[in-house]
Amino acid sequence: MFADLHLHSLFSDGTFTPEEIVGHGARLGHQALALTDHDTVEGCERMATACAAVSIEFIVGAELTAEHGGNELHILAYFVDPQNPKLLTEIAKFQKVRQERIRDMVACINALGVPLKVADVFALANCRSPGRPHVARALVRGGHCRTLDEAFERFLKKNRPAWVPKAKMSALDAIELIHQAGGLAVMAHPGLNRSDQTIPVIVDAGLDGIECFHTKHPPATAEHYLAIARKHNLLVTGGSDCHGLSKGKPLIGTVRLDYPHVEKLYAAKRAADEKRAAPAAE
Ligand code: AMP
Ligand code: FE
Ligand code: FE
Ligand code: ZN
Repeated sequence: MFADLHLHSLFSDGTFTPEEIVGHGARLGHQALALTDHDTVEGCERMATACAAVSIEFIVGAELTAEHGGNELHILAYFVDPQNPKLLTEIAKFQKVRQERIRDMVACINALGVPLKVADVFALANCRSPGRPHVARALVRGGHCRTLDEAFERFLKKNRPAWVPKAKMSALDAIELIHQAGGLAVMAHPGLNRSDQTIPVIVDAGLDGIECFHTKHPPATAEHYLAIARKHNLLVTGGSDCHGLSKGKPLIGTVRLDYPHVEKLYAAKRAADEKRAAPAAE
């Protein structure tokens, strides 16, 4: 039995509907799935319904863009209450930052003589949490770039002419926000962020887990983070980070988290709930 706990839908920069993701998950035999859209939980209700219909366990999630010491890092929020007022207020701020950033990126692209229309990017994104992939897709659709890779290489990658830095919440605030919403905080794809030096600090701030298994973690990287998880007594998660079709195929199914890790997550969620319900019992 296995799970995929890192998936994006068209509520952020993925291209699948929640129902399409669950269709793939069922076809491939997943026991559990989590939806982890960037800075939003909007897709979770539909995903929960779709999972229930095919008897797949569903875990509410989101991927929060955060920073510590100037380094960007992504924090996965599992089991948060999707109605939690503080969570919704905070992520709405970062959705607004994302929308403003789209305008800024398009202005940079226009300044280079490429007549991309900001309205076309928003129409294509059609969500509250747009990102660079939407700008890239609009550049391809408008005939300004041949491929998404070309759009990132020419304009959107860090330090390219249309790259715009993004205001992010502090990782410590993100962990606190997740906990007050009833969730567990997990560091996403640490192998992509070169942020090992921040791990002890955010563990002290209450980090619950670390994503050891990820599409872009080769086996040695997974082993490296498994050792870190053991050292700090962290939960272990994993997922494909599927954003839709990638070279014609969905990534879902390529990273299979062994189900016992999911059971440990459930146990940690229950323990956190019990601790919150009876804080004086310590
Ligand atoms: P943003 O949140 O707007 O900074 O965009 C980040 C997202 O862009 C990531 O989650 C990936 O989905 C995607 N992305 C980042 N770098 C690249 C790249 N070089 N090529 C294609 N997609 C990328
Ligand atoms: Fe993404
Ligand atoms: Fe990420
Ligand atoms: Zn992701």
